[in-house]
Amino acid sequence: MRRGFLLNKSLSDEGKSGRQPVSSASKPLNKETERGVHGEAREPRATAEVARVPIPAIHIPAIPHHELIAAALTLGTQITLHVVHLPLPPSDLAYAEHTTTCILLSGQAPQILASPGFPRDPARPRHAHLYDIRPVPALPAPEQINTEVELGLFATSSLEPGDLILSERPLLLTLRALPAGSAPGTSADDILERAAEAMPARERRAFLALRNCKTHGDPRLSRARGIVATNALGIGSLPGHAGDCAVVCERTCRANHSCSPNAVARWDLPSFSVELRARRPVRAGEELTISYLPDLTLPRAARVDLLRASYAFTCACTACALSGAARTRSDARRALLARQRSLGYDDARFAGWLREGAGERVVAACESVMALIDEEGCVEDGVWAVGLHWLCRAYCALGRDEEARACARRATGLARAFTGGDGGWARVAEDPRMTEN
Ligand SMILES: [Zn+2]
Repeated sequence: MRRGFLLNKSLSDEGKSGRQPVSSASKPLNKETERGVHGEAREPRATAEVARVPIPAIHIPAIPHHELIAAALTLGTQITLHVVHLPLPPSDLAYAEHTTTCILLSGQAPQILASPGFPRDPARPRHAHLYDIRPVPALPAPEQINTEVELGLFATSSLEPGDLILSERPLLLTLRALPAGSAPGTSADDILERAAEAMPARERRAFLALRNCKTHGDPRLSRARGIVATNALGIGSLPGHAGDCAVVCERTCRANHSCSPNAVARWDLPSFSVELRARRPVRAGEELTISYLPDLTLPRAARVDLLRASYAFTCACTACALSGAARTRSDARRALLARQRSLGYDDARFAGWLREGAGERVVAACESVMALIDEEGCVEDGVWAVGLHWLCRAYCALGRDEEARACARRATGLARAFTGGDGGWARVAEDPRMTEN
């Protein structure tokens, strides 16, 4: 889940052609798999009677991005929008609790309430104070247009990838495309203003206190629409309507942007909540950042332009602050990550290498891509899942069990960060020798 309404056709197109789930096809055990792929001696693997553990192939669907709400889309005159409060049971996570005001299609709320597992309590962090919200020490750049005091989220203890930092129900949930009506009361601005007025007093205060970077950019936008355009996080579609939705949260939306973000926000429908999780190791005191961009592999110039146009700030993150040759190398690494994402790690080629006993080539190829991720601090969701899948398969085929275990542990944390669950990786980490290959 990323913040923003940036149009990115290429990303959604890429989802159709490039980000395919990797194959988890497994081969039956035979004599060759009792030895490493280079024929080196190794301990016998588990017998055929014992259930094998598949090495997970997690597919993280790309959420398409759109231009600003209500730019041009109409939903049809026969469709009416409703501003409703979903009757969610209270959570014992006091800080996570909100009344969520929803802008939904007529008849959509009952379909959400009837979705499997709904409603569940939001997930609970290991303790409630893993972060602070406080002013960011320095503004990112002198040319920043918005001069408000900027707040940010800061870790109060060290975090590992996958750790849950906070979970909260949103203040507002809205369809991303609202009617572009011209009659009084039917425009996106009017609908969003109406939703803000319908919020309970505490939630309305929290909503109106969020940053509005559109104040100085487009005076035609209402305050509510400016706040939504500045803060909304895309969550994909919900039951009852194929179009995308977005949410605005009191705390998660305080997370600032980095092109090498250390956290990721994800939507959990059964608990109707947003989870903020670490995607990289985080030190106590470090600012927690997410990505506002549709694609972190864009070169610096494109990233800076998009962020300036959409959010009125000049990115000064660790990646954007590079200059000269270091900047060129950073752009090149991100271009390689983009290429790797589009190839989907070339499953057929890697499977062929493993069959031919060239597991070391698979290891070298996958380790080099994971090194790109580490050097950039850019845990790209379309790259790591495939890379760790093939790396773990190759380690297992070579009998390099400790490296397979470390690989599976890393994948466990990242799967938790991006999907909320371990995706089957924790079982692989327990005993890599029990895996299929
Ligand atoms: Zn940046």
